[in-house]
Amino acid sequence: MTISRRSLAAIPFAAAAVSAFSFSARAQGPAPSVRPLHTPGEGAVNTWLLIGGDALTIVDCQRTVPEAEALVTAVRGLGRRVEAIVLTHEHPDHSAGLQAVSRAFPGAPILASAATARALDASKPVMLPLMQRIFGAAAPTDFPAPTRIIADGESITLGGRSWRIDEHGAGEAQSMTALYAADANLLVASDIVGNRVTPYLLDGLTGQWLTQIERVRARYGRGTIALPGHGTPAALAQLAAEQADYLSAFRGMVRDRLREGAWTEAARARVVADAEAAWPGWPVVVPIPTLIAQNADAVARELAR
Ligand SMILES: [Zn+2]
Repeated sequence: MTISRRSLAAIPFAAAAVSAFSFSARAQGPAPSVRPLHTPGEGAVNTWLLIGGDALTIVDCQRTVPEAEALVTAVRGLGRRVEAIVLTHEHPDHSAGLQAVSRAFPGAPILASAATARALDASKPVMLPLMQRIFGAAAPTDFPAPTRIIADGESITLGGRSWRIDEHGAGEAQSMTALYAADANLLVASDIVGNRVTPYLLDGLTGQWLTQIERVRARYGRGTIALPGHGTPAALAQLAAEQADYLSAFRGMVRDRLREGAWTEAARARVVADAEAAWPGWPVVVPIPTLIAQNADAVARELAR
């Protein structure tokens, strides 16, 4: 059950842009592995499947009910027992599909850190009505509670391989859980890093996120491959450097405008233009048309604190 750079490079992400979860139809190869499923287009988010022997683990559950149902169909197509469902953090693009996925596989424990379980529960009063407004019937009616709390440093066998739970605290979200397989040099990195995507900065924690990335860069070996929450896998060193560059540069764009005076609509518009010029065409991780403007507001608030 090894996964090489070559096999990762061969993962047909482009095909997945044609039809949702089309990768699953091609995921019947002889070698069990780690495989992505994701929705196409703007707001695309990865679900990682850890597959070995007769079992598989689902890492993150997609955003809406139809996306989660497509995930369930794809997983059923693999013909393996679902041994666990893991949530890497509380954000709804990774957790809102949990209701549909956990109903489909009721025997599978729902694994999450205590911090993620707390943040998920705390997000309900705001996030559930917001999702209902945006997605209507495609929104879940609840975020089920995790049934097994996982702790930093714990080792768990998932998909026939031993994974170490690495809790990395606040950054993109209130807390971020990564799964590390030392023998395979693989890190299920979730949203600690994305790959050439416009990030979600509305938690207002970019300073802590930059610190987190520095810790992550120092912690894992140079050959580590990151399986990100958004975008294709790549060397962790590269994705971490690019993520840090994005956050530092975006904070700089906001800081430049703040130095000129009050945070205004014109200041926000200038940051949006600068960001679109710096990272042209990078897909957003959340299907919010005004995400960059909202990110600018959030970072302006964060820098003013
Ligand atoms: Zn995400």
